Amino acid sequence: MAKSDYYELLGVSKSASADEIKKAYRKMAVKYHPDKNPGDKSAEEKFKQVSEAYDVLNDEQKRAAYDRYGHDAFDPSKGGGQSGRRSSTGFQDPFDVFREAFGGDGGIFSDLFGSSSKRRSTQQDGADLRYDLEISLKEAFTGVEKLLRYDRHVTCTHCNGMGSEKGSQSGTCPTCRGSGILTISQGFFAMRQTCPDCNGTGTKIINPCRACQGTGCIEENTKTKIKIPAGVADGMKLRLNGFGEAGVRGGQNGDLFVVVFVKNDKQFERDGDNLHCNLSIPFTLAALGGEINIKTIDAEAVLQIPSGTQPDSILRMRGYGMPNFSTGNRGDQLVHIRVEVPKKLTSEQRAKLEAFAMSLGSSEKSWFSKIKDSFQ
Ligand SMILES: [Zn+2]
Ligand SMILES: [Zn+2]
Repeated sequence: MAKSDYYELLGVSKSASADEIKKAYRKMAVKYHPDKNPGDKSAEEKFKQVSEAYDVLNDEQKRAAYDRYGHDAFDPSKGGGQSGRRSSTGFQDPFDVFREAFGGDGGIFSDLFGSSSKRRSTQQDGADLRYDLEISLKEAFTGVEKLLRYDRHVTCTHCNGMGSEKGSQSGTCPTCRGSGILTISQGFFAMRQTCPDCNGTGTKIINPCRACQGTGCIEENTKTKIKIPAGVADGMKLRLNGFGEAGVRGGQNGDLFVVVFVKNDKQFERDGDNLHCNLSIPFTLAALGGEINIKTIDAEAVLQIPSGTQPDSILRMRGYGMPNFSTGNRGDQLVHIRVEVPKKLTSEQRAKLEAFAMSLGSSEKSWFSKIKDSFQ
């Protein structure tokens, strides 16, 4: 009987990729698998043929030989018959081919059930930790060094994080016999799951370390200093490499993330690199202009009040704000002016103000009539 073309058997083109061939084979193999077609001889024959086709086309070398010489490439009577591994025909057992295509790393089982069939290494990286740190606005302005105290797991010094008592070795996990995987048969399909006894590592500690009970790490109250740079913003995250949970059995330490919270200040409201503040000045100063002392974030400064300053105007003090976190350049202090009107006047003050009001004369009148006009 003339053999069918391998590409035709799998229903793929001659230029099909390895992935396409694998997919096509899986479809065919499931369709013609003897378990699904009990007693059906033609299905069994077809199953063997597609397995044979896949065995060749899945192997780069065999495929190249097949493309060049066709079936003769594997016929011993014609000088072929290369790489016969398990059967006299030069092809693998079709069931082996089937298992190979479905099992193994990244096979159909892990695709469908999400349980990685890849054997895990026993080393485990430590988790990252988070530390919330509150600082004042002034500390954010100057930058500050803080001592952090927190609990974390550190590598057990008794066993160097290996989890085994000195001198003893890890043994093969008895539950999965070292494979890290448990296979549970369910009819036609076999489900694989990570061995719960060894977490898929395949090894079990025979003689656990007395100090850490085999976990490889010990909880410890850790003290570490951190330098908070000037200009740090509220909510900024700083990373301390390796200050998280310890890795076990040679795994890497996690990191410590310090989240900085800048407390609200009574005097200043921060807006990026700028600082806003309120300042009440006597109405005479607003009218006449002059100088006044004002608090800044780190000291005091003299603020020039221009004559004729209006209530709620904002005066900008350049370079008196927060330092920029990256450039160090300082923002501005923005002064919101409140104008104070005296609640009580002495008779002398009253007389002077009345004289002042008189001096405004007609201009005051015209201002009053303007208001009146706007309501008519
Ligand atoms: Zn230990
Ligand atoms: Zn196991």
